[in-house]
Amino acid sequence: MVDQPYVLAEAVRKSFGHQEVLTGVDISVAEGEVVCIIGPSGSGKSTFLRCVNHLEKIDGGRLMVGGEYVGYRQSGSKLYELSPRETAQRRAEIGMVFQHFNLFPHMTVLENIIEAPTRVKKIPRRAAIEVARDLLSKVGLAHRESAYPSELSGGQAQRIAIARALAMKPQLMLFDEPTSALDPELVGEVLSVMRQLAIEGMTMILVTHELGFAREVADTVVFMDDGCVVESGTPGQLFNNPTAERCRSFLEKVL
Ligand code: ADP
Ligand code: MG
Repeated sequence: MVDQPYVLAEAVRKSFGHQEVLTGVDISVAEGEVVCIIGPSGSGKSTFLRCVNHLEKIDGGRLMVGGEYVGYRQSGSKLYELSPRETAQRRAEIGMVFQHFNLFPHMTVLENIIEAPTRVKKIPRRAAIEVARDLLSKVGLAHRESAYPSELSGGQAQRIAIARALAMKPQLMLFDEPTSALDPELVGEVLSVMRQLAIEGMTMILVTHELGFAREVADTVVFMDDGCVVESGTPGQLFNNPTAERCRSFLEKVL
């Protein structure tokens, strides 16, 4: 099906113990679409991204990525749980960038970027290095390939984390507050890499507090509160004319 969304969440529920953290999330993301998720702390934004990326199992509803159920393989009308190996294969299609960069501290920048392509995808080292160098140029860090993560600024480390995710040639990129841990003067360099990706047509889901960036780059902005989507729309609709009271009062506080 051509117009099937790349990510489809319908009534997705997730609990930790007795606490229901996602109470029925509906989000759909078309191929090439940039969706920004905003909302107060604790509303379930990270948990939702983690479900999309196979890091948490949902308890109810339907969650599909690339036309396939997350966590399951469909055969006829039956669903079979994925093995760890199958899960790893599916996850290789998704790039994720976290608030804290999670680079391997004992590896150089170049080694960080080629690690997954060579180990998971069995790409020959030389080919992986070539791709890594292209990506380093793309994020403006060609001159840092031999550096260790501890020698980088936060903005540089986050750009490397993005390059590392892109080295797997993902179909989908997830960003969970990628600039929240950065000094203000380093935020722009990371956002500009993300802006470029959006322009190139990458399908992206981004949790962010950078509302100016969301306004400029998002196709759709989703406001989450209390484990569900309260309102979604174009940046113009959601920022200029929010209909839900909870969304309006959140925006008044943060804008
Ligand atoms: P957000 O990213 O919007 O701030 P989260 O998805 O991180 O929200 O968290 C939503 C709620 O789920 C919070 O109350 C948080 O404490 C809880 N939570 C998240 N992960 C876990 C976990 N692994 N175990 C128990 N509770 C969790
Ligand atoms: Mg979070």
